[in-house]
Amino acid sequence: MVNLLQFDRGALAEWCEQQGEQAFRATQLFRWIHQRGERDFAAMSNLAKSFRDKLVASAEVVDLAVASEQVAEDGTIKWLFDVGAGDAVETVFIPETGRGTLCISSQAGCAVNCRFCATGHQGFSRNLTTAEIVAQLWHAEFELRRRLGLREGERAITNVVMMGMGEPLQNYSQLVPALRTMLDDHGYGLSRRRVTVSTSGVVPMMDRLRDDCPVALAVSLHAPDDALRDELVPLNRKYPIAELLASARRYLERAPRDFITIEYCMLDGVNDSPAQAEALLALLHGDGTAAAPGLACKVNLIPFNPFAASGLKRSPAARVAAFAAVLQEGGIVTTIRKTRGDDIAAACGQLAGEVQDRTRVVERRARAAPVRVALPASRRSAGEAVAPGRRS
Ligand code: SF4
Repeated sequence: MVNLLQFDRGALAEWCEQQGEQAFRATQLFRWIHQRGERDFAAMSNLAKSFRDKLVASAEVVDLAVASEQVAEDGTIKWLFDVGAGDAVETVFIPETGRGTLCISSQAGCAVNCRFCATGHQGFSRNLTTAEIVAQLWHAEFELRRRLGLREGERAITNVVMMGMGEPLQNYSQLVPALRTMLDDHGYGLSRRRVTVSTSGVVPMMDRLRDDCPVALAVSLHAPDDALRDELVPLNRKYPIAELLASARRYLERAPRDFITIEYCMLDGVNDSPAQAEALLALLHGDGTAAAPGLACKVNLIPFNPFAASGLKRSPAARVAAFAAVLQEGGIVTTIRKTRGDDIAAACGQLAGEVQDRTRVVERRARAAPVRVALPASRRSAGEAVAPGRRS
């Protein structure tokens, strides 16, 4: 049996043709699944009986199994989905006035190993399939429509961010059909501006995404220089900041927005000093030369959500505000992310889920000597040296 959530509309048309059906039947089928949330082929009344019989015999629409659901005081919902073999992934719905954002996972665990990320602490287990990525949206959309009593045509999810567990661009082949289904007018009909892929900086895949499916892009920067970013986001050793920003500039040639969102997690005493704000400003502005042309961007400062193993602390609010002020006074639109779903550990960086530590990464780290982040001399003092727990 094939899970039809695996197919974008083009692939579904090919599959229908293999079944001896005309390609336009795929559009009808696609609409039933993704616009009406229907999984019962018998209820798909505009499909010929013979086609419905074939579907019953050879296909299915498989939702993810809900292991748990938690609802925070602020209305944020976190689903833990069981994806089999001991793996689980998390999906978070964030309601706001006039919009509903769904944060979707792309992998069970993550191999990138950012030091401030709870998911990274769990190690990497496996890539999700397209069907498992789409099923997170399918489940949330139609479950919420039912609970909220929405009429046909009304949507619960208006925005999708690929910011859950995993590095989406390290699961590229499964990601892109899922994005196409989200964007498809016969599917979820989300505009490219309302679908955001967040990456830690997989440069070659950023370039491919620009050509294949240019949705909005967020880049997790977290440091203004390579020395610190090497420690916080180890992928930086492979794709350093200059290469990352050059790729981000290339992305803007096709991007649906005229800016890249820069994500910057505020870590107490690590990356949050006024001097580091100035360095970030200089980095993003550039000097207008070919060597440093600057980047059209806005910055999103993320209060760190501490978790036991990280060894890191959240920057005080006043320091975050001062950091933001430097950027804003320098002409860069800067927002401070409101923390949501704290009480159910659904906030950014807390999506550790129940993923098994298959790579024994925690065990290995416990045996290893602690890694210390080098601070600028001006900030180095007994209280400021930080041995960060790894986030990912
Ligand atoms: S923050 Fe880093 S480790 Fe965590 S999920 Fe994203 S890429 Fe992976």
